[in-house]
Amino acid sequence: MSQRNKSTIAVRHGIEADKAHGAVVPPLYLSTTYSFADFDTKRDYDYGRSGNFNRDVLAEALAELEGGQRGIITATGMAAVHLVTQLLNHDDTLVIPHDCYGGSYRLFTSLAKRGLLKVEVLDLTDSASLEKLGAIKPKLVWIETPSNPILRLTDIEAVVKAAKSVGALVAADNTFLSPALQNPILFGVDIVVHSTTKYINGHSDVVGGAVITKTAELGEELAWWANNIGITGAPFDSYLTLRGLRTLKVRLRQHQENALQIAQYLEQSPFVSQVYYPGLESHPQHELAKKQQFGFGGMVSFDIKGDLTTSAKFLTSLAQFSLAESLGGVESLICHPATMTHAGMDAQARLEAGVGDTLIRISVGIEDVQDLIADLEQAFTQLNEQPASDEAKGFKLTPAHTALW
Ligand SMILES: *Cc1c(COP(=O)(O)O)cnc(C)c1O
Repeated sequence: MSQRNKSTIAVRHGIEADKAHGAVVPPLYLSTTYSFADFDTKRDYDYGRSGNFNRDVLAEALAELEGGQRGIITATGMAAVHLVTQLLNHDDTLVIPHDCYGGSYRLFTSLAKRGLLKVEVLDLTDSASLEKLGAIKPKLVWIETPSNPILRLTDIEAVVKAAKSVGALVAADNTFLSPALQNPILFGVDIVVHSTTKYINGHSDVVGGAVITKTAELGEELAWWANNIGITGAPFDSYLTLRGLRTLKVRLRQHQENALQIAQYLEQSPFVSQVYYPGLESHPQHELAKKQQFGFGGMVSFDIKGDLTTSAKFLTSLAQFSLAESLGGVESLICHPATMTHAGMDAQARLEAGVGDTLIRISVGIEDVQDLIADLEQAFTQLNEQPASDEAKGFKLTPAHTALW
């Protein structure tokens, strides 16, 4: 097939694939089992864990969007992360970044504790730490760029070069940008992982994951493992996720247009001490972002001037942002990483990851940006106008949960 542009892939893949009735939209196949065509003659599918039409349509679309050979759809993003670890034996080393997604960090370190693999933690945003790969001799290097929550970038090409020189595979968690805005395989990455829960589905109503491989062989091996350990995704989840994927590019265009305006607004606000957004020229890795990304994404973080109480007051004064974890849906979400997404980290690790009490993370939605900015402005203004009441002064944020992510 001639190469299609991303919008066309996302919108058209699977359209008119139905052979029975010519349905324009791929129908939903819920059947867990399929009849044999004849004795010892299977059809395309035999059993729902091993193969399903809706999963396949989504997997093919994602593989084509990422420029990979094979896609595997898993039940959750964490199942996708877990699947990749099946490539490692107990004496193989996995290098992970110090600020990777908390759930991934917890999984990798807990597998290491049980002796199932070895883990080395490096700051991969710092190219000097790449020199250590020679001594570590990893089997796999894990990257996540931009990082959560302060949007630090890792130079994908530099990591791939260093990893290849020691014979290591590279996996990239591309959840924060989606295939619309970054394609790690273009830079030589072997495996791309997504929590499709986020931008790919984009409507905050499906938890899911995907693994995309650069080569068919690696795809075959991981697909075998996905069936073996039984972590493939549900058909209806794939159906919904494909429906979300149809609008990926237009959604991302609006997410990042709104995000840039909000980042620029925050940067000039007297209530804000620092803004983290790769699209701002003040971002230390703005040039790297332009080099390896097709856009700057919809996530913006900032430090509010003040303390925990200021953060709490600000966050509870907003009307157009939901105080919630997760990201990538059409609706704007705002979160306080220190007491929410990163509450399970100890204070020192939190500090190293740049997660202080005044850090606030926004998953910028696709609402009218003027309404979003007006809401931020009224919440900031309240910090000045109403001196904290006794009740507000004594307000202590109770983490919604103390579990990790
Ligand atoms: C959410 C997320 C995951 C985990 O995905 P789930 O769908 O929640 O299991 C992994 N990596 C990143 C970067 C994420 O944001």
